[in-house]
Amino acid sequence: MKRLNKDILTWIILIIFFALLIFVYNQVNDKYNDLGQNAPLPTKLHPIVEEKKDVLLKKASMIGINVIITEKFRSIKRQNELFKQGRSKEGTIVTHAKGGESYHNYGLAFDYALENKNGDLIWDIHYDGNNNGESDWFEVAEIAKEMGFTWGGDWHNFKDYPHLQMDFGLSIHQLKNGLRPKINTE
Ligand SMILES: [Zn+2]
Repeated sequence: MKRLNKDILTWIILIIFFALLIFVYNQVNDKYNDLGQNAPLPTKLHPIVEEKKDVLLKKASMIGINVIITEKFRSIKRQNELFKQGRSKEGTIVTHAKGGESYHNYGLAFDYALENKNGDLIWDIHYDGNNNGESDWFEVAEIAKEMGFTWGGDWHNFKDYPHLQMDFGLSIHQLKNGLRPKINTE
């Protein structure tokens, strides 16, 4: 009799334990689902990033700077091709991110350059086309940072001056695991 009670008690504890486990799992899962877990990879810029990019272009043009967007969304395949450049392929290294390791792959980054009055593309980060004694390139970066972008020119290991990204608090690790920023354009 005593032995039977002990068995039943063990079972009850086990059942409670597993019920609790399922409850916690669902809670965590719900939280992730909010962010869109296992969402498919995007094929274009996130709508909020797209919108802010347009605002940035407008703000820059108001101080006499023509910003050109040279790259937006980048597929994982293209990222892997770029990664080869300067490594197994000819050219200079342009990225330190393999496919899936760049915010471009999740539609959360774009690259910019400048354009002068003749319509020529400017890659010189010291160019001062609006003649205010400041580098136009850095002026654009400053506006972007005020808007919440992270600028690749601030990175220490590899300065990526054309690069702007918005991470929505998500790491590459989280994005790789299928987490996505909420689509909320308000
Ligand atoms: Zn970039």
